[in-house]
Amino acid sequence: MAHRTGLGAPAERNDPGALRVGSIGGVDVMVRSSWLIVAALIAYLVAPAIEQVAPGLGALKYVAGVAFAVLLTLSLLLHEISHALVAKRFGIGVRSITLHFIGGVTAMDGEPGTPKQEFAISAVGPATSLAIGGLALALLQGTPDGLLAWVVGALAYANLVVGVLNLVPGLPLDGGRVLRAGVWKVTGDPHRATVAAGWVGRAVAVVVLFSPWLLELAGIPVGITDYVIAVVFGWFMWSAATSAIMSARIRAKLPALRARALARRTLSVPEELPLAEAIRQAQDIEAGSIVTQDAAGRPVGVVNEAAVHATPEERRSWMAVRDVTRTLEPGLTLPADIAGEQLIRAMQSAPATEYLLLEPDGGVYGVLSTSDVDAAFSANR
Ligand SMILES: [Zn+2]
Repeated sequence: MAHRTGLGAPAERNDPGALRVGSIGGVDVMVRSSWLIVAALIAYLVAPAIEQVAPGLGALKYVAGVAFAVLLTLSLLLHEISHALVAKRFGIGVRSITLHFIGGVTAMDGEPGTPKQEFAISAVGPATSLAIGGLALALLQGTPDGLLAWVVGALAYANLVVGVLNLVPGLPLDGGRVLRAGVWKVTGDPHRATVAAGWVGRAVAVVVLFSPWLLELAGIPVGITDYVIAVVFGWFMWSAATSAIMSARIRAKLPALRARALARRTLSVPEELPLAEAIRQAQDIEAGSIVTQDAAGRPVGVVNEAAVHATPEERRSWMAVRDVTRTLEPGLTLPADIAGEQLIRAMQSAPATEYLLLEPDGGVYGVLSTSDVDAAFSANR
């Protein structure tokens, strides 16, 4: 399936619901527990068909079913690996491939820089599935009837279906990415292209959702399972398309977020200064933030505003500033000129309530408060 995550993607490595099963070319391969349930379901569903082509297997038909589910998973994995390899060729880092209940997700550290890259990364997935399907079909010609022929035939069918369905031009499907590449090429605007492909994705979701009713109207009998599948897939596509549209709208506005413009004036004080005194000095110069410095005048921490508010006034006179200060770890110091997506990425990779902004010469420019970034962002809406 391979919709890919970019900005704001959760780190799959920290995903408690995913099991790391190995790594290919430095890319972690994860399996979500939901995929295990689906694999078991597949094994169960294909068991009767296996019984038909190979009677007398008994309980072994479930073992054969599990083996089929594993082969199917491996072929889906090849699809994802093809996305990952092409992305890496373009210098885009790939963190992980996660198999979940309806396919896989390849988590990348960046986004394709050009429509051509987007096209290549997206199109190679369905092309790989179609190639596997074609290869299996060719193999089928020389395979005698029986269990093996059934497995090869089912793999051919499944991969051809995955390849064709993924070419449907709506996000989050690969075809949606291909469409996005085309609209991007024509308009020159990647965000508008995402919104367009997202809307087509929503339309596809609606068609999927109502497909059982449409089939019924056409006189084709449908069962309760068809309704369940239509609702699950339709809902999945709708929500994924919607989040793609939302994130495109957000990202279109990001360039307006500039750290320097949002910074608070800051006061530098020694770490051991009483908190009440530091606050008084900050108010005197109308500073909205306080930074602590060591004896050599180097910044060592940023005062946490929430911690100050949580400290009763009477305690502030005998507490040191240090007690409400977060030490400046790597990531909490940002260049004053950082802006847009780079700023958001930096904040996501080191979440904090305050960041110290430095001038290119190392001097303190001010403090960037996460709440100010949030407020500027909402005001922009
Ligand atoms: Zn894909």
